[in-house]
Amino acid sequence: MESKAEYDDYLVVLRENVCSHCIERQPGCPPCAPQGKACGIEQHIPELVKICRTTDSVQMEPYIQQLHDKICEDCAYQDTPTCPCPLDY
Ligand code: SF4
Ligand code: SF4
Repeated sequence: MESKAEYDDYLVVLRENVCSHCIERQPGCPPCAPQGKACGIEQHIPELVKICRTTDSVQMEPYIQQLHDKICEDCAYQDTPTCPCPLDY
């Protein structure tokens, strides 16, 4: 079980390697939540880490499937017409 500090370390790496390429990133972001932008990277990081640790594939599909099954299924935005989160793509 990771501590909050360890998840903070993952967040730093994700921001360097993912957020830096995000087409939805607004000036001054991340963090995006304070700007009203919901993103799974900030909201579901423990689940994301768990998926990465329990999935082993060179293909993206198994990770996407896990995302849908383990994160999106319980996400507050699941039933909204449009996901505010770029995590899926
Ligand atoms: S929307 Fe998500 S992936 Fe994009 S910059 Fe914000 S936290 Fe990062
Ligand atoms: S349901 Fe949509 S907003 Fe929620 S984690 Fe999945 S892709 Fe992101």
